[in-house]
Amino acid sequence: MYYYDWCRMVEHCEKCELSKTRKQVVIADGDPTNCKVMAIGEAPGADEDEQGLPFVGRSGKLLRQVLSDLDLLNITYITNIVKCRPPNNRDPKQEELDICGHYIIQEMTEYVKPDFLLGIGRIASGIIKQGYTARMHHGKIFELGNYKFMGTYHPAAALRNSAWKEMMVADLKYLRSKL
Ligand code: URA
Repeated sequence: MYYYDWCRMVEHCEKCELSKTRKQVVIADGDPTNCKVMAIGEAPGADEDEQGLPFVGRSGKLLRQVLSDLDLLNITYITNIVKCRPPNNRDPKQEELDICGHYIIQEMTEYVKPDFLLGIGRIASGIIKQGYTARMHHGKIFELGNYKFMGTYHPAAALRNSAWKEMMVADLKYLRSKL
């Protein structure tokens, strides 16, 4: 299936109850044929649901700014594990993660084929790499099958705490140096 058709298929997904409350399916932002890094968040929030793009709210703007400052934005495909906004930003349920997990595996293995998976925040990072904790594992590179993986602080956390912001920037600089 072509990427375009895959996106149309996901846009019409009604396999879980999030389809009843979403405004839009939020798939991704970036050129799947030309990205070395796949940045993976947990799930869209209100701004993303409104605009149909991932990481476009206040914290998303910070993430994009840091990626751009490091010359990473143009080679980063930005996506989320869950493609529809959970109501009131509740945590995604296991069933929702299972259904959408199937999509992100297709996205990663058939279309984007990145060198690096970048987990944005501890929830997404913990889903990608079992046992992940921010304090012990952020900014470290792990081999996960055919991919390298790094987790970092969520930009929403970085907005609240300048030390976490510095660590997020340092992690991404290190990732840049390893490309
Ligand atoms: N937080 C996420 O994890 N994903 C988004 O798309 C926006 C905020």
